[in-house]
Amino acid sequence: MNEYDSDRIKNALDAEPTDDPKKADIIIINTCAIREKADQKAFSSLGKYKHIKANDPSKIVGISGCVAQLYGDKLLKKIPHLDFVLGPRAIPKLPDIIAKIEQDKKRTVETSYDIEELFEVEPYHQKGKVTAFVSVQQGCNKRCTYCIVPNVRGDEVNRPLPDILRETTNLVNKGVREITFIGQTVNSWKENGNKFGDLIREAGDIEDLERIRFTTSYPRDITKKMIDAMKDVPQVCHHLHLPVQSGSNEMLRGMKRTYTREWYIDTIARLKDAIPDITISTDIIVGFPGETDKDFEETMSLMREIEFESSYSFKFSPRPGTPAAELALEEAVDPEVASARLTELQAFQKEITATKNEGRIGQIEKVLVEGESRNDPEFLSGRTDHNRILNFRGTKDLVGKIVDVKVTEGLLNSLRGELVV
Ligand code: SAM
Repeated sequence: MNEYDSDRIKNALDAEPTDDPKKADIIIINTCAIREKADQKAFSSLGKYKHIKANDPSKIVGISGCVAQLYGDKLLKKIPHLDFVLGPRAIPKLPDIIAKIEQDKKRTVETSYDIEELFEVEPYHQKGKVTAFVSVQQGCNKRCTYCIVPNVRGDEVNRPLPDILRETTNLVNKGVREITFIGQTVNSWKENGNKFGDLIREAGDIEDLERIRFTTSYPRDITKKMIDAMKDVPQVCHHLHLPVQSGSNEMLRGMKRTYTREWYIDTIARLKDAIPDITISTDIIVGFPGETDKDFEETMSLMREIEFESSYSFKFSPRPGTPAAELALEEAVDPEVASARLTELQAFQKEITATKNEGRIGQIEKVLVEGESRNDPEFLSGRTDHNRILNFRGTKDLVGKIVDVKVTEGLLNSLRGELVV
């Protein structure tokens, strides 16, 4: 989501991007507030630009994203070298804000939720890139007790279907072959009588679009209609990121996730019935207030039962204004216990992922070639249908094509293979 917003910011500015802050006229830190660590990172990044601004006061320094929304004008008070604060919904206002600062030399805060042209600015597209995100939704209507997203991104607003299809078609016309639809709970998307399954079917009719992915799905919004569309539309990749957060019903209730462990397991079974080779990844929080050893063991047993392809796991971080932060005042898990649980869980996930990757040796995978491998230019890199990175020797003319690659090595975070000719 933040990557997409950063690309929208680039486009809104209509300026040449640079990696060198000293050469930039405008420096914007796009931030995430989901956990305390991310939030602190934003402040330390801002600190880095203090001297650049001191040496050249004509430079404009701004902060955008969820940290900007969360602290608003407090940021201007705290950080003297900051020129503007821009909430995630206000990106379309950016050109006006910059023009005003240049004209009036006045520091500005824009954190209103009430932005008419919410989806108006489309993201910057780097020439030659074969994958792209398309936002279908902003904000969130779920009220997970640990989560700050609804506080900083507002309620769910769904983008009209014609807009989504137009942006997707434009990207395909520029050479994009894989689209990832994004939204906080992407599969709760509905608009004008259409549901998420209809969106997938419509996208499937776009000529030359070869792959469709979407993230993040919310378990309770997985419907039969959605599963049928995933099964019927051949471009839909057979991988789903489905955050479970915990294997304990007690914790799920405390988190207000609105499903039980049994319901989640049954949903995976329904998905596998329809799409037998589908792979599932997830998000997990450990150390949620009140989490006992038994609750944690239930998360571990769920991991043994489902064998997620991969998972992102986090130590609970109390966020300002959330119900779970209040709960943590009384029922906080000892940070050392939470760290030990996280270490145990991540080590177990590594084992599962490694076993699964080794199990793919000898298989032929369809890979959309995205470009040269970051570590070795003699290798090309792409992702399999199941969202695994696969590197193999090949020439650059294959970028943008879907090719068959035989897996020869299963590493921890990626696969290696040989092009099948
Ligand atoms: N709407 C997305 C969802 O529900 O999956 C939000 C994704 S959030 C950016 C990614 C993950 O961060 C969540 O799935 C959750 O596991 C984790 N997370 C969110 N709030 C957290 C918190 N307060 N402490 C620790 N992890 C958190």
